[in-house]
Amino acid sequence: MSRKRSTILEELRERDRDLQLIYHSIALLQWDQETGMPKRALHERSEQLSLLEGIAHERLASKEMGELLCEAGSTSENPGGGHDIPHGDYVFLRALRREYDRAVKIPKRLVTELAREISAAQSVWAEARENDDFPSFAPHLEKLITLNREKSRALGLGEHPYDALLDEYEPWMTTAKVDKVFGNLKKELVTLVQELHEFAHVDDSFLHSSYPLPQQEALNRRILSDMGYDFDRGRIDVTAHPFTTAVGSDDVRITTRYKEHTFTSAFFGTVHEAGHALYELGIDDEYKTSVLGEGSSLGIHESRSRTWENMIARSIPFWRRYYSVVKEFFPSQLEDVTLSNFIKAINKVHPSCIRIEADEVTYSLHIILRYQLEQALVKGDLSVKDLPAEWNRGMEELLGIRPKNDGEGVLQDVHWSMGAVGYFPTYALGNLYAAQFYSTMWDDLGDVDTLVLEGKFYRITEWMRTRIHRYGKAKTPAELLKDVTGEALKAEPFIRYLRDKYTQIQEM
Ligand code: ZN
Repeated sequence: MSRKRSTILEELRERDRDLQLIYHSIALLQWDQETGMPKRALHERSEQLSLLEGIAHERLASKEMGELLCEAGSTSENPGGGHDIPHGDYVFLRALRREYDRAVKIPKRLVTELAREISAAQSVWAEARENDDFPSFAPHLEKLITLNREKSRALGLGEHPYDALLDEYEPWMTTAKVDKVFGNLKKELVTLVQELHEFAHVDDSFLHSSYPLPQQEALNRRILSDMGYDFDRGRIDVTAHPFTTAVGSDDVRITTRYKEHTFTSAFFGTVHEAGHALYELGIDDEYKTSVLGEGSSLGIHESRSRTWENMIARSIPFWRRYYSVVKEFFPSQLEDVTLSNFIKAINKVHPSCIRIEADEVTYSLHIILRYQLEQALVKGDLSVKDLPAEWNRGMEELLGIRPKNDGEGVLQDVHWSMGAVGYFPTYALGNLYAAQFYSTMWDDLGDVDTLVLEGKFYRITEWMRTRIHRYGKAKTPAELLKDVTGEALKAEPFIRYLRDKYTQIQEM
């Protein structure tokens, strides 16, 4: 490498580092807003956030940044800049170029218009959902779809107008690839849900009892430390909607929410968020405070949380070990509940209208519905006014049920009101990635069930760290999947995992 190029890269790294410091500061302000900010601070907080976001955007989209990237050999067509570049520089340039292109290609007017429309749409959506009033939200959704189409054109990626939108959340993924795997997934899941219909009658009434919050909190701290979540590098707080946020490489915080009448909601929610946090905390130090120092994509991120939540914490061996622990926290509530009843109850398969309450088997069908609809909206094959009817028809086709109203139907999720079109598929991609990685983990570690039964979670965390977490954004989702599993994205391992699991549960 010429002296000159190394100087250029050094300057780019410095600029990137400053950007990450600003992003982490933004994350801290947002975390504070959700967890403990006094109510009247809202107005000033919005000003603080928009100032920092503006500064970050200006720096990222600056002329100097563009020039430096070009000088380093990075172009839109060849973001990593040629094969003679050392690998570490190649992946850095590729990731930074991607951020830069997204920042400069979308015109400022569009960014402002989107922000304005989202802020208007959100309050209208919340009220519309409350009152089952889709028509009042429709004009806002119409506008947001139009703006998203414009955004897609500005980014000019891929063959399908949905490609550029999907790419925002799942870098380098295409609509064609998702169509193909979701097609298989849909067919298999619809059959599986029918086969497992008797699971809808499992008695889970004991999960709805009185579960005092102090015990729930203590149980959550116990599972977090068993999973290896480091309280010196993070913390847990309570918010209305649980999330994980990285305030720095050594400060990855999670939140949860408690319901007095059921402990499983906070328990599995906490395990889920801790799965996200372990990912961020497991990224190699060399990527600290850089564009590479975060998860590869939302789908890969979701695969980390779902492995912990569903594949480990809802498994038979996990509860063979953990049921006695949980019974110490809730002795009277679970007194007459056998282990087998308990496991069946937390794995109940039950087609329902609400995505966030869906079980592991039906969940991806909720996603496939949203994916099909938003693609049709973007393409112009479906008009917003016909959306509720199409939604209900899709629910009937995929899950055999119909929402009673739009509040529990088309209006249930916040994503579209936030202008986030292309986000939904990452949830189901997470399930697929998770099963593919899980299968390789068995190949590498041998009998994973026994490790879980013996509480050797550190072996699992260590495997995830070495094979997946450490790379951060240095590997694209497809590269990571290929390197770990030797394969491309597919639905079969997930279906196989579900079939094996439910066969075992049926035999209990
Ligand atoms: Zn998640």
